[in-house]
Amino acid sequence: MTTKRALDKKSKAQAAKIAPVEKLPKQAKTGAMKFEYAPSLESTDIVRIEKRNRLFIGGKFIEPSSEAYFTSMNPATGERLADIAEAGDADVDLAVRTARKTYENVWSKMSGRERGRYLFRIARLIQERSRELAVLETLDNGKPIRESRDVDVPLVAAHFFYHAGWADKLNYAFPGQNVSPLGVVGQIIPWNFPLLMAAWKIAPALACGNTVVLKPAETTSLSALLLAQVFQDAGLPDGVVNIVTGAGATGAALVNHPDVDKIAFTGSTDVGKIIARAVAGTKKRLTLELGGKSAHIIFEDAALDQALEGVINGIYFNQGHVCCAGSRLLLEESIAEEFVAKLKKRVAKLRVGNPLDKNTDIGAINSAGELKKIKKLIQLGKDEGGEFFEPTCAIPDKGFYQRPCFFSNVSSSFTLSRVEIFGPVLAVSTFRTSQEAVLKANDTPYGLAAGIWSEKGAKIHKVAGQLKAGVIWANTYNKFDPSAPFGGYNESGWGREGGRHGLSAYLDVR
Ligand code: NAP
Ligand code: MG
Repeated sequence: MTTKRALDKKSKAQAAKIAPVEKLPKQAKTGAMKFEYAPSLESTDIVRIEKRNRLFIGGKFIEPSSEAYFTSMNPATGERLADIAEAGDADVDLAVRTARKTYENVWSKMSGRERGRYLFRIARLIQERSRELAVLETLDNGKPIRESRDVDVPLVAAHFFYHAGWADKLNYAFPGQNVSPLGVVGQIIPWNFPLLMAAWKIAPALACGNTVVLKPAETTSLSALLLAQVFQDAGLPDGVVNIVTGAGATGAALVNHPDVDKIAFTGSTDVGKIIARAVAGTKKRLTLELGGKSAHIIFEDAALDQALEGVINGIYFNQGHVCCAGSRLLLEESIAEEFVAKLKKRVAKLRVGNPLDKNTDIGAINSAGELKKIKKLIQLGKDEGGEFFEPTCAIPDKGFYQRPCFFSNVSSSFTLSRVEIFGPVLAVSTFRTSQEAVLKANDTPYGLAAGIWSEKGAKIHKVAGQLKAGVIWANTYNKFDPSAPFGGYNESGWGREGGRHGLSAYLDVR
């Protein structure tokens, strides 16, 4: 039997192994020393990446008739990850014809209840393969595993579950009206949330009875192709979803194909404008989810530490690669100095590095081209006279990385107040009255999102009513739910995704 004495002796021996406080380095006792976390790398064993990835048409992976392939990189290392088929005009045409045939012979004839069953099955398979999907997304995109695992993939499953529920209730979504699907939908998505954007597009389109041709972004096609395997495993009828990988030319071929009934596009405002011109005067319906330059407004009565976390999450989350990133920060003058001091301290603690490390806050920028664009805009901000802060933290030697940074004392005329940077760069300015805050927040060609921070509900409601932004968060930021419509004002786009509003974008409602 273990006696109390024996236990005391044992714990004394254990305690002796731990360095007594007196023996710790001086800085550690005062709290000035920075402790390093040991790396905590997510294993990549679960993912099998094919060297050559073919097009997904008619339920099968097929060679592109163009015979062309391009390379997808891991932005965290700059190394080649895989080769991806580049769909030419003939491949896009085959995908659209397949989607048309499947629409007419299979999918539009199926009951909503049956379509819903496929969507439920897809949602469950996504949950089952969630770790694989998250690791692949991080490898191809560069985003921290914490985000792909805890944000992207759960939201992807949630989108399929949510829309599965609508598939047999569309008449209740629009009471007293008749609804019918549009037909073949061409969908083009960006690289910042590759899997989530695919889910935002595919789930409502299928629930409403349409068939799909999807074009992922050139730098991040792999997770869409893994999703194609999920569709196969779910037994989704061949040809309901077709995936044509490629660059801008593949997207343009899809936009210009005469037998597409609707184009749904998420990406930059510049490409959105090209697409709007291309479909003008045709029978095609169009929804556009474009860029943003969204503002946080922080009033002096806000819970400042909570607001600080919201700001950090809003711009440094996903390396600033978020269309609705809170890339402008408007501070009430009375708290500006205090808040900027807090911001500096917090930004200096963010961890930039290997996206597969579970401790990483900021992963890799998606491509060398994007990193170059961000650096150029930072230099422009310096030239324009912004007060620049960037911590000195170490970043990996290989791959594409940008430290989190911000400019204070920025005026609305600065380029960095107006142009979407799409990187971890924040522009900070001040206001004296709520009227001035609203004027400054609305002083942008965009209108995607905004965040209001105050303890006064009446003030939040009043300011929210005056802001020209599609999504407004109060005392929080970057919260998403499939039932909440998402979309922008002005140059941030046309139409909404999610919720009942999002369904109407894939239906003829009469
Ligand atoms: P992008 O350059 O506009 O590309 C978006 C997609 O369009 C990609 O698949 C791209 O292919 C394709 N594309 C390029 N040129 C085309 C053309 N002429 N015709 C048809 N398709 C074409 O945007 P990105 O740089 O990938 O993504 C970042 C942008 O997306 C940001 O502006 C961001 O704000 C916006 N975004 C908006 C939302 C929203 O919901 N509002 C959500 C996410 C992202 P390649 O990749 O091969 O060039
Ligand atoms: Mg890649």
